[in-house]
Amino acid sequence: MFDPSRRRPSRLAYLAALLSGLALASCHLPQPMPGPGPERASAARQARGEDTQWRHDWVRDAVFYEVFVRSFADSDGDGVGDLAGLTARLDYLNDADPSGGNDLGVDALWLMPVFVSPSYHGYDVVDYTRIDPDYGTLEDFERFLDEAHRRGIRVIVDLVVNHTSSEHRWFEGACCSAASPYRGWYVWRPDDPGWTQPWGGTYPTWHARGGEYYYGIFWSGMPDLEWRNPAVRMEMERIADLWLERGVDGFRLDATRHLVANGPGELQNDQPETHQYLQELAAHVRERYPEALLVGENWTDTAKIATYYGSTERIRGGDELPMSFDFPLAEAILTAVEEASAEPVEETLREIAALYPRGVIDAPFLTNHDQVRVATRLAGDQTRLRLGASILLTLPGAPFLYYGEEIGLPNGPSGDDRDKRTPMPWEEAADGSEGRGFTTGSPWYPFAPAEDGVSVAAQVDAPGSLLAWYRGLLRVRHATEALRRGNLELLAQDTPTVLAYLRRTETETVLVAHNLGGGRQTVTLPVEGPAPEPLLVDPGGALRATAEGFELTLPPRASGIWRLSD
Ligand code: CA
Repeated sequence: MFDPSRRRPSRLAYLAALLSGLALASCHLPQPMPGPGPERASAARQARGEDTQWRHDWVRDAVFYEVFVRSFADSDGDGVGDLAGLTARLDYLNDADPSGGNDLGVDALWLMPVFVSPSYHGYDVVDYTRIDPDYGTLEDFERFLDEAHRRGIRVIVDLVVNHTSSEHRWFEGACCSAASPYRGWYVWRPDDPGWTQPWGGTYPTWHARGGEYYYGIFWSGMPDLEWRNPAVRMEMERIADLWLERGVDGFRLDATRHLVANGPGELQNDQPETHQYLQELAAHVRERYPEALLVGENWTDTAKIATYYGSTERIRGGDELPMSFDFPLAEAILTAVEEASAEPVEETLREIAALYPRGVIDAPFLTNHDQVRVATRLAGDQTRLRLGASILLTLPGAPFLYYGEEIGLPNGPSGDDRDKRTPMPWEEAADGSEGRGFTTGSPWYPFAPAEDGVSVAAQVDAPGSLLAWYRGLLRVRHATEALRRGNLELLAQDTPTVLAYLRRTETETVLVAHNLGGGRQTVTLPVEGPAPEPLLVDPGGALRATAEGFELTLPPRASGIWRLSD
């Protein structure tokens, strides 16, 4: 079980923290966690000079689904979505029957924060060890995990590593006494140097409290943790261990590029210490739980995102974060669909190929909880929504869907973040209760106004629905190794509205093509071979072998996926 030698570096780090005057009381030393089974094996591998590798085969085959628990399904009629409600809706996401049915077929869930928090969104945590009572109990969480795992669904949870709530007991201790053992868990200075948020605007990042100033890059209610303090890093490792021991399959790590700030502007992002500490956290997790996934929120350009994978020299998939959300690719897909131009996607895919280390796993998506929903951005246009889905779900990596995207759920009417996170409309508004299958009571926040048909009930059994198209794309992806794991090869042709590429493994080649434009297109692609086998093709699409190559025909804003024989 527990091997004390594994903790030695952290204990030394603790001693260093004590010596540097942080005066940590011994009662604050984290208690050792029982180690998992694989720990001994990894210690033995280390003794032989071998590195523990990530075991991420499951990630390479997965489609993820981001859930805001508060807005997904309410079990007890208080209008607030909860874990029991989510558990009861798991069959919609994956009913564990790969042969058919009308489930969406996702493989993994990302739960937005479920730990105790004073806010509706949960990104300001006051207790990292407990489930927010709005969402249920730890028993509810464990029941949910069991039911998800029974269906083959993995679960990662949001871990807010950059900051806590200002109401966290650590900060309440730190804020008011320089002698508090938690003083050094946050970032203090005697004066305000005048830094503002690095992404723009005038909001200050240093906030007055008790005669000094603390650093909080997002908001005064979210004080940044002092990651230079080894006690903070050890506590985050302990929290990760606790939830992995409880059965989660990994973490989505919030705001990772801001862990350490060394000055104003760009010095608030992507600092060398940040990379070092993320590598340490990743090594800690990988040694104990090599199947666990860490996905970073590094909202920046392709070149900088690439650096968060770290090195692949010794660790396949990268020795830092094994995945980071691909914000530039998300924007490129939406721009391509809006502007009917393949170029933004082609350019971003070329950059990724040039800049990402070999063999790492990309995390493409369309939108998340911080962005205008795709259905709003594309004005509810069904053909464009299908097109966005078709591009996303045929690219390399492990794609992430945001709950409601699969039914074309738009934003609510305002710019408030809550209007990006409205309750899931399970039923049509006309069909009955005010709660629309989300709750038997009154929903915590209004449903987004939408056209008739934007509900699960209206689409789940309708073959031409957006939901059915998503389901079809997921089925084909699952059945086609080249779509999950194949490399990507852009196909050159002269029509700027056509995006075409091959996905290829050693044993399988698939051709994917999208017509982004408003007119029918016929182009010749530089690919030869016998007649291709259609896997999923919009009505009217065709690909046929000719003497000059494959002749592709696609109606306006249509896609096709074909398997090529060798
Ligand atoms: Ca509830």
